[in-house]
Amino acid sequence: MHEIAIVSSLFEIINRKVEEHRIETISRICLKVGELTAMEPMTLTACFEVLAEGTAAQWAELVIETVPVMGLCGACGTSFRVVRYDFVCPCCRGDSVSVVSGQELYIESMEATCKGEQNEKTAA
Ligand SMILES: [Zn+2]
Repeated sequence: MHEIAIVSSLFEIINRKVEEHRIETISRICLKVGELTAMEPMTLTACFEVLAEGTAAQWAELVIETVPVMGLCGACGTSFRVVRYDFVCPCCRGDSVSVVSGQELYIESMEATCKGEQNEKTAA
C-alpha cells in the first residue's frame, strides 16, 4: 500500500500552505488523481483521514477527481482514451503513443479559513 506515502507527501504541501497562509481550518481539499497512478480513492480517503487527525484538515472534505488516461499517437496524431493500459492507436494501430494525461496526483484546490478572517478563501 503506497497510498499512505503519497498522502504523507500531500500533507507536507498542506502543512506548508497552512503556515504560509495562517490557515485555521481547511474545509475542503480537491485532489486530481490520474488513473495511471493506480490509487484507490477509498484507500486514499482512509489514509487522509488518519493523517488529518489533529491537523487543520481534520474536518476537511476530500474530493477526489479522477483523470482518465489519454494517449497521443506519434504516427497519426490521434488523441484517444486509453482503456486497460492498451497503448495502441485506435486509428492506425500504431504503438508509438505518448501519455498526455493520467499521471496526475496533486492538490487542485483547497478551501480554508485563515486566522483572523471570517470568509473562506482558496489557498492553493
Ligand atoms: Zn495513430
